[in-house]
Amino acid sequence: MADEVKLTMVGGNEPAKRLHDLIRAPENTTWVQDKKQSWDGNEPATVYYTPETLADGTPTTAVTVILRTKGCHWWWKSGCTFCGYFNDTRDDIESAELHSQWEYAKKKFNDFADHGMVKVYTSGSLLEDREIAVDFQETVLRDCHELGKELIIESRTEQLNPEKLAWAKKINPSFTVAIGLEALDDEVLRFHINKGFSLKSWYRAVENLRAENLRIKAYLMFKPPFMSEGDALEHCIRWVKGVAEDADEISINPMNIQRGTVIDRLFRGNDYRPPWLWSLVELIEQTHSIIHPEGGRNGGEDQVSRLIIHPTAAGRVRGSHNCGSCDRDVTKAIENYSVSGDIRELEGLDCSCKAIWAEEISLDNSLPMPLGIGLPRRGNKIANLRSP
Ligand code: SF4
Ligand SMILES: [Zn+2]
Repeated sequence: MADEVKLTMVGGNEPAKRLHDLIRAPENTTWVQDKKQSWDGNEPATVYYTPETLADGTPTTAVTVILRTKGCHWWWKSGCTFCGYFNDTRDDIESAELHSQWEYAKKKFNDFADHGMVKVYTSGSLLEDREIAVDFQETVLRDCHELGKELIIESRTEQLNPEKLAWAKKINPSFTVAIGLEALDDEVLRFHINKGFSLKSWYRAVENLRAENLRIKAYLMFKPPFMSEGDALEHCIRWVKGVAEDADEISINPMNIQRGTVIDRLFRGNDYRPPWLWSLVELIEQTHSIIHPEGGRNGGEDQVSRLIIHPTAAGRVRGSHNCGSCDRDVTKAIENYSVSGDIRELEGLDCSCKAIWAEEISLDNSLPMPLGIGLPRRGNKIANLRSP
């Protein structure tokens, strides 16, 4: 019996590992290091534009500039369980490289002349001095103000202190800060996401941003690791309710599996499946009355916040997906709702796989199985029923 193999989530008979060690493990592998050195530090990771809506509801297009940076200081210390941004960073990016990347983006889109909004994403926090040179923070804030573009930047909560915000606001009087809150629940933040900040820090950031009259966009994670589909749905509905009054926009990020992350390990070990698209439809149906209490649509009088869901890798097994035949239509309806806020976008959606999804949710909510009862949705149904 001494040699009995214990089947744990994180290996065999070795002592249990800390989540922190599992997150850090892939970062020093050769494939990650090789990839990092292969990037050109003078070009952004990517630049593209998408349809968007200005703060006042006017339709426009937004240029998204994803900069190649040193990455996120929380990642340097520990990191979130689903975050694969480390794949896209370079350790030696300083002000000169960031400025070259910015010039590249401006040149490519003719100083953003045909677009009303610019989103600047840094695989971390733009206002964090350890990650982004201060003179570059200033360049982004100033350029977007002078060019008359609505600006969205991303940040963790701890950078959003009164001094930093007052400094930024002097350069650009009106911008939006998008915060990866992920979950309105301290336990989920700590044990499922390893977020490294608590709700106290979120509420402090909200207060500071409100004091400066800056807009807030909150990202919520749909189905973090170690959570069943049924739990994810129930939690996320509650989180949307909880942040609707504090955030001008709520962007739901349904989990997609990025290479080398903890969630990638769980996924490959058959211990996790990305969300169903049906769950996202249900989430919209259950939260529409929170976002639009009078049943209105985006831009209407009754709008409390704006609910956005653009599922990354939708329809693929590493992103939110259904059976394979209805994915395209369901994704389209979800994306249309994100733009219009009109619940009628979801009318008429149906497929035989919806009954399987409904059964999964019902069993997740009644059986004591923390990871849920979900099975792969693609491939041979009989083979899927067999133990992995
Ligand atoms: S805070 Fe954001 S960028 Fe940093 S590790 Fe977490 S998800 Fe990644
Ligand atoms: Zn289907």
